[in-house]
Amino acid sequence: MASRASRPRQNVPELPEVETVRRGLEKVLPGRRADRVVVTGRRTVRRQSPGELVSRLTHRRFGLPDRRGKYLSLPLDDGQVLVVHLRMSGQLTWVERPAEVAPPNHTHVVVGLDDGSELRFTDPRTFGEWFVTDELGAGGLPAIFDLLGPDPIAEGLSTTELAGILANRSSALKTVLTDQRAIAGIGSIYADEICFAAALRPDRPARSLSRDEVRQLAAKLRSVLRAAVKARGSSLRDAAYRDLMGELGGYQARHCVYDRAGEPCRRCGGRVTRVRFGARTAFCCPDCQV
Ligand SMILES: [Zn+2]
Repeated sequence: MASRASRPRQNVPELPEVETVRRGLEKVLPGRRADRVVVTGRRTVRRQSPGELVSRLTHRRFGLPDRRGKYLSLPLDDGQVLVVHLRMSGQLTWVERPAEVAPPNHTHVVVGLDDGSELRFTDPRTFGEWFVTDELGAGGLPAIFDLLGPDPIAEGLSTTELAGILANRSSALKTVLTDQRAIAGIGSIYADEICFAAALRPDRPARSLSRDEVRQLAAKLRSVLRAAVKARGSSLRDAAYRDLMGELGGYQARHCVYDRAGEPCRRCGGRVTRVRFGARTAFCCPDCQV
């Protein structure tokens, strides 16, 4: 078992966690009007002034929440979009009766909705971000999303597309899987779990995969992410990730390799190992991942 000091923190909520938050928002946000917007965090709003965000968001009604990769896209009734990125430790919480629940420490944005409920954003590490934009790109989504690779759940990712993404990339498979410009939404946890499910080493050069291996990877990429969404994401020991109602995710119990160094492989009984490549690390089973 790895020492506690060397354990990875949960770097960011990844696609399954952000999708779980989006599904929560879908139940409470559409049709609601932002009556009151308060920004107290100094770093949360940084692409525009907090005053500009407040004036662009106040009195607007929300449409149907969307998501690409780790970004939430919350359309407003005047054609603008509120973009939220949780980054390292950001958490959105919906509170039905705000008078009964004091905002926790590190609450940086509060949106009072017209039914008396509140949307709160807490973020101890302050890497999370909010901005309102009317610069739209493909599919009416914020233009900055055009820089992202395909989202495997929202848009799908075929074997042919994945083969094109991996071709000619000499960097490690995990490095490509977690490159948001190549594929949107995958971070360290799901890259390791997807590589394990596909029986591929995460430190292999991306371009070394055979067509059959790419096909297997595409299938496992979809199935791992879908299963994780169904389990409402992964919450690790630091419990940084909670859904919109404050509940923990359930997929961590099904992790096969992530943060399991020294423990037995669930497929072959070998030993899960933390491997290093370049400046990065990955958890894998060297006995059954090739
Ligand atoms: Zn194994």
